[in-house]
Amino acid sequence: MNEKISVDFLIDGARVLSMDSAGTVYSQGAVAISGKDIVFVGRSDEAQKRFEPKQKIAAAGCVVMPGFVNAHTHAAMTLFRGYADDIPLEPWLDRIWELEKAYATAENVRIGAELAFAEMIRSGTTAAADMYWNKDAACEAAKKSGFRLISGPSFINFVGPDGIQMEDRDRLAREFLDQYKGDPLLGVCVQVHATYSVPREMLEMAAALVAEYDVPFVTHASESQQEVKTIVERTGMTPIEYLDDVGLLTPKTLLAHCVHLRDDEIDRLATRGASVAHCPESNLKIGNGIARTAEMLRRGVNVGLGTDGAATNNDLDMWGEMRTAALLQKGITGDPTVMDASTALRIATINGARAVSLQNKIGSLEVGKCADLIVVELDNLHSTPVYDAYSHLVYSADKMDVRDVFINGQAVMRNRELLTIDEEKVKAEIRQFAKMLDQRSDK
Ligand SMILES: [Zn+2]
Repeated sequence: MNEKISVDFLIDGARVLSMDSAGTVYSQGAVAISGKDIVFVGRSDEAQKRFEPKQKIAAAGCVVMPGFVNAHTHAAMTLFRGYADDIPLEPWLDRIWELEKAYATAENVRIGAELAFAEMIRSGTTAAADMYWNKDAACEAAKKSGFRLISGPSFINFVGPDGIQMEDRDRLAREFLDQYKGDPLLGVCVQVHATYSVPREMLEMAAALVAEYDVPFVTHASESQQEVKTIVERTGMTPIEYLDDVGLLTPKTLLAHCVHLRDDEIDRLATRGASVAHCPESNLKIGNGIARTAEMLRRGVNVGLGTDGAATNNDLDMWGEMRTAALLQKGITGDPTVMDASTALRIATINGARAVSLQNKIGSLEVGKCADLIVVELDNLHSTPVYDAYSHLVYSADKMDVRDVFINGQAVMRNRELLTIDEEKVKAEIRQFAKMLDQRSDK
């Protein structure tokens, strides 16, 4: 008899939703993890014959699926959750930027980011594209938490709380990219806040870095009507046309929002292979409108899903985001077929992985990919009975149903207990921050 192969974890007896290109599902399935890698996805009986796990995780009544990829957030903005609500984007930015300049210090970013990672892990998110000040502090917190962060130097037309002067930005961006490129957990990118908040030379500087380092480019684009108007007046082009003119629309481009696009702009994104990070709840809350994501998908654009920062959402919950995304498209088109449940789950997982250019590494359960996956209970009252797991995951389940979370082969939550972050400590730290912010003298 053949000897069994030793693996670190065998998650067994679950319904396995692989989210691979064929949409393979195993009703009585198993996933084996060795080191950081997925080494088996298939039938439970076969896994039991082949593997001797160091830890066996019984998962009857559960779904095993890829963790969510939050394609757009500002993790440490948890610091300002609920601080600037119910106002439009432009005054919101003024208010938040003023706060950030004074308070988004490296230590506060560490606290805010750690809370965000805890919140995301708890709700089944295993990777997130982050744009924020003092990114090194967030990256170090991510490594400590075992959370897969995609981050990078971010250009904007003023000196922020990290104190980086304009003339130092290119050099420091290179230092960051040299330091973190190739990190087994983190992803690197180059970011520009938005076309309206930088001069053309800064976009060109970013384009040069993107080309030289061959990394993704991330920016906000066509989020509000005012933004489109501003850029058309300044350049004669829309933000999408302008980015293309600078050479920044490529298959490694990720554009957050894209609420206000004409059909020909959607086609241009499809032709260039650029991705969109759809952030429906942030767009709704700030009154910016509803992106036509069903139309984008129909025309061949890769659409991922993001929560945006906690100061505009106000949570980092991909379950709510996914449901909102699906319902909105049905509502605005009058057609319930335009974004079905499996499509909604796809934009929250594999499409997000592609949006951050990590589609060969994460986003689906396939042998050789990194073990970024979640175990979700589907035997709670609100999801009983189960006819169709996709339907339940999108329309019935929520973050409380997430039981176990693995990132890069590491168990970061088991039986709803966080294993890498002391959540009571981080909650106490952020409450302390909020108390200081409330009592500050410069209000
Ligand atoms: Zn954003």
